[in-house]
Amino acid sequence: MKMKSEREMRSKFLRLRCDDCENEQIVFDHATTTVRCNVCGRTLAEPRGGKAAIKSKIIEVLG
Ligand SMILES: [Zn+2]
Repeated sequence: MKMKSEREMRSKFLRLRCDDCENEQIVFDHATTTVRCNVCGRTLAEPRGGKAAIKSKIIEVLG
């Protein structure tokens, strides 16, 4: 279905859980800077010139 590709183009916010300390953090999936855990500093997402590379566990997709 065409609906699917439209959905994938849209940017979203993701709720990630840090693999190291289990801190939950909201991250923009098109982040343009490296996103680090607020608690332990682990890298959660890295910019990839579009959709960010998610380096931790996605526990929820928001919007
Ligand atoms: Zn952490």
